[in-house]
Amino acid sequence: MIDLHTHTDESDGTLSPGQLVRAAVDMGLEALAVTDHDTFAGYDRAAGPARAAGLDLVCGIEVSTKLRNPATGYGKAVHVLGYFLDGVPTTEFRLWLGDMQQSRRDRNERLAERLESLGKPVALAEVEKLGRSIAGRPHFAKLMVEKGYVGSVQEAFEIYLGEGGKAYVEREEPGVAEGIRKIREAGGLAAVAHPIRLGRHPGVADRLIGEMRGFGLRGIEAYHSDHSRQDVALFLELARRLGMAVTGGTDFHGGAKPGIQLGTGINGNVAVPRSVLERLRGQGART
Ligand SMILES: [Zn+2]
Ligand SMILES: [Zn+2]
Repeated sequence: MIDLHTHTDESDGTLSPGQLVRAAVDMGLEALAVTDHDTFAGYDRAAGPARAAGLDLVCGIEVSTKLRNPATGYGKAVHVLGYFLDGVPTTEFRLWLGDMQQSRRDRNERLAERLESLGKPVALAEVEKLGRSIAGRPHFAKLMVEKGYVGSVQEAFEIYLGEGGKAYVEREEPGVAEGIRKIREAGGLAAVAHPIRLGRHPGVADRLIGEMRGFGLRGIEAYHSDHSRQDVALFLELARRLGMAVTGGTDFHGGAKPGIQLGTGINGNVAVPRSVLERLRGQGART
């Protein structure tokens, strides 16, 4: 059994990289990929303990991108996994991630200033403590509920944080094509994470994956905690039809998503065969 989609406390998980490695070894995982959001910090910290424990650790990342619909201008959040199977990611890629972090920080700073001027102060430090590498509006919203400024996260977005809200600050997130291109240029294999979230309507995910394939997407995360047995079968079939690689993992977040177990998902709904990684390694970044 392997797990190629996990988060540490460097993004929005709760286990430290060392604890995650320990948990993987204890349950007998044959391979583990750390795929924190927009950062390699968790992987970097896991590398030493994994080596010491003899665990097969895969370098990964989950990049947050937006797929814009040119007709509506609406951007759909698309998470792109990057797997570095043939070597370490390039310095350029790490710098690009650093720029992304900086723009996120700038946006959060401006957002905090606006809320302060509206008499609803939320400290940036609190937001960053909660959201780590992906600190942003959902974390502001949660804190605003805690502070009693609003009754719900939804209300926080409606009145303050959402587009048209009193404190709204725009942030340019990379487009999905850019995210995929950056992963490939860095020597990685790009795969779409939890494709079921692209849309449950028949044909939607197929169409979008086909489009992203044109940008250089090479893999589909067929195995995931959000996927029913039927979903898994459909995405395996789609990957076969499009000649794309298959990836899979639980999206383990520790205590942040307590229903999801490392390696096995929700009530054992994930089982990623070791052959998945062997095939990925066979393809590597050459595809
Ligand atoms: Zn995701
Ligand atoms: Zn994830």
